[in-house]
Amino acid sequence: MANVNQLIKQSQFRIILALGIIALLVSVSLVTMTSFFNAQEYDARLINQAGRQRMLSQRTALGVNLFIKQLESNQPINDSIRSMVFESANLMLSSHKGLIVSTHSDDIRALYFAGEPSLDDDIRAFTSSALSILQATSTSHLKSQDLEYYELENLNYLLFRLNIAVNAYEESAQNHVTSSIKAEAVIWLITLLVLMLEFMFIFKPSLKLIRKGFIEKVIQQNRMQLAADSAHLGIWEFDIANQTLQWDKQMWKIYYESEPQASFSSWEQFKARIHPQDKDHVVDSFSQTLNHQEPTDFTFRIITPSQKVRHIQAHAIIEYNHKGDAIKIVGTNQDITEQKHKEDALIEAKEKAEAATRIKGDFLASMSHEIRTPLNGVMGMLGLLKNTPLTLQQKQRVSVALSSAQSLLALINDIFDFTKIEADKLHIEAIDFNLDKLLAEVIESLAQLAENKGLELILDTINIETTRVLGDPGRIRQLLTNLLSNAIKFTNEGHVILSVSLTSFSNNNWQLNFSVEDTGIGIPKKDQPFLFDAFSQVDASSTRKYGGTGLGLAIVKRLCIAMSGGINMNSQENRGSRFYGSILLGKSDRAEILAPNFDVSRFNILIVDDNSVNLSILKDQLTHWGINVFVANSGAQALNICEQRVLNCQPIFDIGILDMQMPNMDGAELGKHLKQDPRFNAMHLVMMTSMLMGNDSQFMADIGFCAYFSKPVTTSDLFLALSVIGDNGEALRQATPLLTHDFLNSLNNPDDSAQSHIKTRIANLTNKHILLVEDNAINQLVASDMLEDLGFSVSVAHDGLDAINKLNTHTQAPYCLILMDCQMPNMDGFETTQQIRTGKAGPLHMDTPVVALTANTMEGDQQKCLDSGMDDFLAKPLDHHQLERVIISWLLHSQPPQI
Ligand code: ADP
Repeated sequence: MANVNQLIKQSQFRIILALGIIALLVSVSLVTMTSFFNAQEYDARLINQAGRQRMLSQRTALGVNLFIKQLESNQPINDSIRSMVFESANLMLSSHKGLIVSTHSDDIRALYFAGEPSLDDDIRAFTSSALSILQATSTSHLKSQDLEYYELENLNYLLFRLNIAVNAYEESAQNHVTSSIKAEAVIWLITLLVLMLEFMFIFKPSLKLIRKGFIEKVIQQNRMQLAADSAHLGIWEFDIANQTLQWDKQMWKIYYESEPQASFSSWEQFKARIHPQDKDHVVDSFSQTLNHQEPTDFTFRIITPSQKVRHIQAHAIIEYNHKGDAIKIVGTNQDITEQKHKEDALIEAKEKAEAATRIKGDFLASMSHEIRTPLNGVMGMLGLLKNTPLTLQQKQRVSVALSSAQSLLALINDIFDFTKIEADKLHIEAIDFNLDKLLAEVIESLAQLAENKGLELILDTINIETTRVLGDPGRIRQLLTNLLSNAIKFTNEGHVILSVSLTSFSNNNWQLNFSVEDTGIGIPKKDQPFLFDAFSQVDASSTRKYGGTGLGLAIVKRLCIAMSGGINMNSQENRGSRFYGSILLGKSDRAEILAPNFDVSRFNILIVDDNSVNLSILKDQLTHWGINVFVANSGAQALNICEQRVLNCQPIFDIGILDMQMPNMDGAELGKHLKQDPRFNAMHLVMMTSMLMGNDSQFMADIGFCAYFSKPVTTSDLFLALSVIGDNGEALRQATPLLTHDFLNSLNNPDDSAQSHIKTRIANLTNKHILLVEDNAINQLVASDMLEDLGFSVSVAHDGLDAINKLNTHTQAPYCLILMDCQMPNMDGFETTQQIRTGKAGPLHMDTPVVALTANTMEGDQQKCLDSGMDDFLAKPLDHHQLERVIISWLLHSQPPQI
């Protein structure tokens, strides 16, 4: 349906156009009329002047004749006659000159100048003769050629010619009048024609348009009313000037369940039905529309006369007059009660579904945790079993069982992680850390895997301009490790490249761009769109070649999103794949925190663990550092010991190290008891758990724990954590929410003065002889250099067998430390250590601290080192800060301070 406003606009335009044309025609007519009038006036002036010239010629002739008569009669000349001749002749001449200049008609001009003599010459001669005759004082002075002009015949001829001129002027004027009448008639004819055309083509259609517009408006209104009626839409109008409110039928039906009770409703009638709790809100919304003159939408409840509560959706707009002033508020009211009930039901159903999903997620999470606990036991036992004397077949079976258990653990860990992310329980930490170091660690941890397959693993960090950033190193490690281990898994030859770059994203953020590129089997096009979905694998057959859960990439994608980034991939079958993406990291403005150098030997520490093996290993370790250690194998016993201490007036423990998984009262619960009791809450609490870390760190921090580690904890982590807690300084304050492996890893190493301090202390050690067991010549060189730089003397053994031989021949004094590579030909580091511990390298070396040098930093591998009797481990390639830290923890604190 055409828009009425548009129709009116169209008509307006047409009428303005028509009026414009009329105005133009009238102006043209006026201009021509005026010019005609001017021309007529001009013509009249010319006729007049020509007539006057004729009259002046007669007057001059009369004057000359009188003058001559007076001369002939010798009478004195009458001055009046003289001046009459003089004036008339001069006036005639000037009149003639004026006429000649003013006459534009060529025909008339020809009358003056044609013939011999011409009229022009005659007039000039006539007037000059008159003036010459006037000079005579006697008849003898009169010249015959002057008198000739005054002879009757010549005079008549002149008059005749002047008459002809007068007639010509009159004729020309008559012609002008005739043509102006004609022109005027033409103009009026055109005007009439235009008016007729305008009526036919403008006014008539415009009227039609306007009529059509009105009809359409009425139809529109009817249809709107029909639509409003069928949608049960009530329409109301509020007149701002008169403050009157008008309701349509439907409004009355909604509010009063009746036919209209009056032609106008009132504010009071409206307000009377609004639900008391919604009254303020409705009045506010309405006033807001009125004051701000803005359309509004709001919902409220009314109570009908039959006491039914109905939900109303109101919509209001402002109507303006042509000057732009608001004149009315027009609105609709719709009864949305049914819709509201449906929505409520939907929300309830959604909440129920979400609760069910949550329960399912929680169930999965707790199940995977429950499965993991016995699985840890199974793996531990298999690990121990593997190291007992077994037949070859038994060894194979144990190793298969162990690797199956490890796969199962990986699967459970993935499920646990995924359910956590899905349940929105993923917490991204903002820790100040060294990005370069993290990337190197990630690569190192996978180096062995790549090497086993003969692949080249390359790290490209050329575009990293700053090393300290704020972020979650644990999650970044998980993300990159996942992509890299996939790349290694699905590549049989060639290389895997991890490229990382940092670009500034905003004042506070870096964008970390990463890509993992391989030359592997690639991914078929059809499978690529589903790759980041959970549980999706390209080869999902039960006999598939590569293991995996299909959760890795789903977790990676969610991690990227949680870190304000994303991930994408491209791949070609049999050519390779490239996974690339980005995440946001914070810019670190914090001064680097130094790892404190604290003497932990004066601590009193309580260890609580239900596992007696763990308990005794930890106790030995702490005792080795000179710490006063107390143990409890349950939460109840721990509380008991603490109470006894208070009763005996002894100071409460400096630190409590609690295991999480304990029957009856777990570590978290024990922590709560200790923190809530004012007698014990000064104690610093450290949590150890075999569960994976998630936002549990926040949960532990909320209870009051100051450190949180997943087992097994490296000795260097434990030592550093104790130093940070003892130091109770900047490092502890910055550890938010609490101390973790990643935070400790982010700490910088002591500055040069502290380092020279360490060197002095090493110099004061009585025993500075270290045995390095390492098969790789380059590693031997690097490690020896570092150790010698610190002031140690180093003996090198090429493999385990060589080490046992060297130790057996070295009988005067024990080494202060043995650094032991794990993977070596002839005898590996694990077996060598076992032989040392069982005395096969001589009784002198049975208790010498053994620190593993390993490329494997997987949890299981660390446990393997500890199980074989090693005391600590260092990741390869050797980092001199890490090396110093381990040496400090093993050598300096077990000796009385020398300076
Ligand atoms: P999985 O634990 O099975 O590896 P992921 O989610 O990590 O689960 O990977 C899903 C699937 O994507 C894998 O099973 C594999 O088919 C394919 N895929 C992932 N990365 C690569 C890669 N670099 N090259 C080839 N295929 C890959």
